[in-house]
Amino acid sequence: MKNLNFPIFKTKIEGEGRKFMLEDPVERHKYFELKAGPEIEKLKDYLRENTFVGFLLGKKNAGKGTYSKLFMEAVGSDRVAHVSIGDIVRNVDKDLKDEVRRAELIKSLRERYRGFITVEEVVERLEGRSTQNLLPTEAILALVEREISRLGRKAIFIDGFPRNLDQVSYSLFFRALMGYRDDPDFFVFIDVPEAVIDERLKYRVVCPKCQTPRNIRVLRTKKIEYDPESRKFYLICDNAACGGARMIPKEGDDLGIEAIRDRIENDDKVMKMLLGLQGVPKIYLRNSVPIAEAKEYLDDYEFTPAYRYEYDEAAQAVKVIEEPWSINDDNNVPSYSLLPAPVGVALIKQIAAALGL
Ligand SMILES: [Zn+2]
Repeated sequence: MKNLNFPIFKTKIEGEGRKFMLEDPVERHKYFELKAGPEIEKLKDYLRENTFVGFLLGKKNAGKGTYSKLFMEAVGSDRVAHVSIGDIVRNVDKDLKDEVRRAELIKSLRERYRGFITVEEVVERLEGRSTQNLLPTEAILALVEREISRLGRKAIFIDGFPRNLDQVSYSLFFRALMGYRDDPDFFVFIDVPEAVIDERLKYRVVCPKCQTPRNIRVLRTKKIEYDPESRKFYLICDNAACGGARMIPKEGDDLGIEAIRDRIENDDKVMKMLLGLQGVPKIYLRNSVPIAEAKEYLDDYEFTPAYRYEYDEAAQAVKVIEEPWSINDDNNVPSYSLLPAPVGVALIKQIAAALGL
């Protein structure tokens, strides 16, 4: 699959010497203030009285949740919600195990759902008791409507819908279906190189005790151990309660992106179809920038750092080497991957523009 060739969003401020530690929330706040202060104020003002519906589109593991949560962090999460269709369906499964919540869910489905299978069959499919486990879009929409009515009136980011080509036309009329008819909507497209998704999966590790996820290449812990026998480096969980547990890969992650290839191709098709959509504002985010142009558009601290490790036999210590995370993008152009925060700035500024602020 080729790059989508979105424009590169410039977040570099010429002559600005300040640097920010973007993984630190306090520093990030100052960073957003510097790079998108006026837009953040306008958005806060707008959100006091108004809402929007933003659809997040991108391949699995593109960072949809991360970017929308940064937006919420910058403008205030009391007026904006991230609505993940995957989470809704998973949580319904928990509701069904509790007698009171189960009754409430079925009542809600009877009120909201209209479709070609019965409510009983919908419940069976949700519980995986049916031979058919595909949930019809009408049922998904009823569950989303239930979730949105619980949230109260807020601007919403929809994550995970439309999931396939059959759901695309529902997304065009989603506002009307959810009672947001007069509020603006827009599509947010995220272009992320396959190499980034691949390395995020391949180098992912998790603490066997507290399940915290990290990545040995791009999201390390403070302490690294070397095992001379296997000649491998291990991240040690930062959580003191885990007593120095070694973080380990999850089964299947060594396959990287190939394990989710079908899903990636499906997501790509949905995105390409919606890129041709007319009459709805579009927002373009890119995770990577060609190295040759990177320094013209971004400040050094906005690139994702990557880590390599060497073992110093004499000192018996692990040496950590930090350098920008460079990958080849889908056109095979050497590129740097960006930290979430500069992509967040691009999102904030483009949403402000799409809303006419
Ligand atoms: Zn742990």
